[in-house]
Amino acid sequence: MNLVEELRTRRNLSDEDFLRLLKTDEYDQELFSSAVRLRQKYYGNDVYLRGLIEISSYCKNDCYYCGIRKGNRQAQRYRLSEEEILECARQGYELGFRTFVLQGGEDPWFTDERICGIVSQIKAEHPDCAVTLSLGEKERSSYQAYFDAGADRYLLRHETADPEHYSLLHPAGMSLSARKQCLWDLKEIGYQVGSGFMVGSPWQTLEHLIADIRFLQELEPDMIGIGPYINHRDTPFGGMESGSLDLCLRMLGILRHVFADALIPATTALGTIHPQGRELGLLAGANVVMPNLSPVSVRKKYELYDNKICTGEEAAECRGCLQRRVSSAGFEIVVDRGDRRKEYGL
Ligand code: SF4
Repeated sequence: MNLVEELRTRRNLSDEDFLRLLKTDEYDQELFSSAVRLRQKYYGNDVYLRGLIEISSYCKNDCYYCGIRKGNRQAQRYRLSEEEILECARQGYELGFRTFVLQGGEDPWFTDERICGIVSQIKAEHPDCAVTLSLGEKERSSYQAYFDAGADRYLLRHETADPEHYSLLHPAGMSLSARKQCLWDLKEIGYQVGSGFMVGSPWQTLEHLIADIRFLQELEPDMIGIGPYINHRDTPFGGMESGSLDLCLRMLGILRHVFADALIPATTALGTIHPQGRELGLLAGANVVMPNLSPVSVRKKYELYDNKICTGEEAAECRGCLQRRVSSAGFEIVVDRGDRRKEYGL
């Protein structure tokens, strides 16, 4: 049995064998076609839409890789009003979105009360939709309050599962253990949980990527978001190299095998690093796309990394563009909440 067959059968490999897969492009074609067959087993050709609403570019943190970190004096700051957020969701609903992702920096202006009010209003207006939050590290009581208000899912990337590597990417005061605790809290509360990491971040080794797989195996997330690290000029990592498309796609193909029924997006970062990055992501095993529903007037201000795509188009144009891209890869966007179809509970 070769490496890909073994991965497909066991949904796992030894660290040494993961390393062998990651090191070379020798297995890529077989890995990707096997990944697509696996996603077809659970999801057919369906691709789920997530409508991304970027609610705030303020953040109290200073992650070294991030364009909207507190210390970046060049960053343009904005907050969407509650009414603007609700209007984005209404527009998205008309366009066939059944999941809304409220994402933002860790912005204390958005108190628990405000977040709960927005979540419950979206759920009241669109009871057939899922609400996903991606608002960073919070107290468990805050996560519980959002859940009680109707939030269904929470995305919190761990970014790297190696504590030393984590401390090279984040300032003192942020820790991998705190991040992991948040993820465990979210799971216990009952959220569908998403985690993930950057591929090719500064000082990352292939061994770190294996640690990421091992952590995800412990966490068993419903959603896994990965994307190439992309440099932002106004951060402490300004001069450093971005990650590679090839390694990111390979990792995506591996993740589809280990987490066969997971929801895995072809991320905007993939589309930024290569013009067909999202199509290639779908062809490596991804089954979700996340078009932007934020008002065009603020899109450029939510610049986590340089040259982020899709900052000039209206929501309907983004939706249309992705529809064409998804079809060109041989898949189909569906109007659906897009919950995880669990392996044994189809
Ligand atoms: S990565 Fe998230 S928490 Fe860190 S500075 Fe950027 S927005 Fe804030």
